[in-house]
Amino acid sequence: MAARTAGMYGSRRLGGARALFLFRSERELDHHHRDVPRQKELLRDAFKGMHADVDRWLEELDHTPAFYFDSVTQLRMDTWTRGRVTLVGDAGYSPGPAVGGSTSLAVVGAYVLAGELARAGGDHERAFPAYERAMAEHVRGSRAAALSAAKTLVPASRLGALGLAQGARLISALPAGPRRALLRLTTKSARLYNSMAVDDHPPSATSAGRIRLMGSLGNRLKCSSCCRPGLRNR
Ligand SMILES: Cc1cc2nc3c(=O)[nH]c(=O)nc-3n(C[C@H](O)[C@H](O)[C@H](O)COP(=O)(O)OP(=O)(O)OC[C@H]3O[C@@H](n4cnc5c(N)ncnc54)[C@H](O)[C@@H]3O)c2cc1C
Repeated sequence: MAARTAGMYGSRRLGGARALFLFRSERELDHHHRDVPRQKELLRDAFKGMHADVDRWLEELDHTPAFYFDSVTQLRMDTWTRGRVTLVGDAGYSPGPAVGGSTSLAVVGAYVLAGELARAGGDHERAFPAYERAMAEHVRGSRAAALSAAKTLVPASRLGALGLAQGARLISALPAGPRRALLRLTTKSARLYNSMAVDDHPPSATSAGRIRLMGSLGNRLKCSSCCRPGLRNR
């Protein structure tokens, strides 16, 4: 059986519990992206019999309004620009969903692009290369962190699985404040996103309101799905 991880997490913002299922597959999965019944069948096949708790979570598949199924994919392109078009966020440099932080990267990318366009007086031929240069290292770092997070979350060895389950149990037992502090200290992606430095682009008279709004969004962008432990792993 391929490596697999099942977990349950909650968040005040979600208003209920969510189950998370991650598994590696040796072959390309045979399904259409709109064929939800087939996706649920693939999920049941991958996880049935793993544990009594997991079987109970699987029973909820037919009732949940929050079903989402996708592959964890990383996008790698040498450039995000062609002519007058450039890409921001997942379209250009998605390091991989479900491993945390891609939203922060998308917001940083939008800020840097807007800043470079303003600095170049709207000249995209100067702004786009400057935007790509400013983002390149952040994107490379995010890709590396995403690959290592994927290895940790779906470990290929018994020892890795044991470490993940015990670590998740320990972190779950802590009160919210210390738990968040510990996760910030120990997860590579949290350290990475907390330390990203970009040029300070002063807001223009017309854009000041919008940039302030983005700043307050940035403070609230925390990984809510993958940093809530309570994992079962085999
Ligand atoms: C299951 C899951 C969990 C995640 N958890 C986290 C997390 O905890 N933390 C984190 O930081 N990130 C997380 N992410 C990643 C995060 O959702 C993305 O990185 C982020 O949404 C990227 O923002 P974006 O604006 O680049 O793209 P999107 O949010 O995908 O926005 C693109 C928009 O364009 C629209 N669109 C597409 N094609 C067209 C078209 N032809 N015409 C018009 N509109 C179009 C789409 O409908 C969509 O609204 C998660 C992702 C997934 C899938």
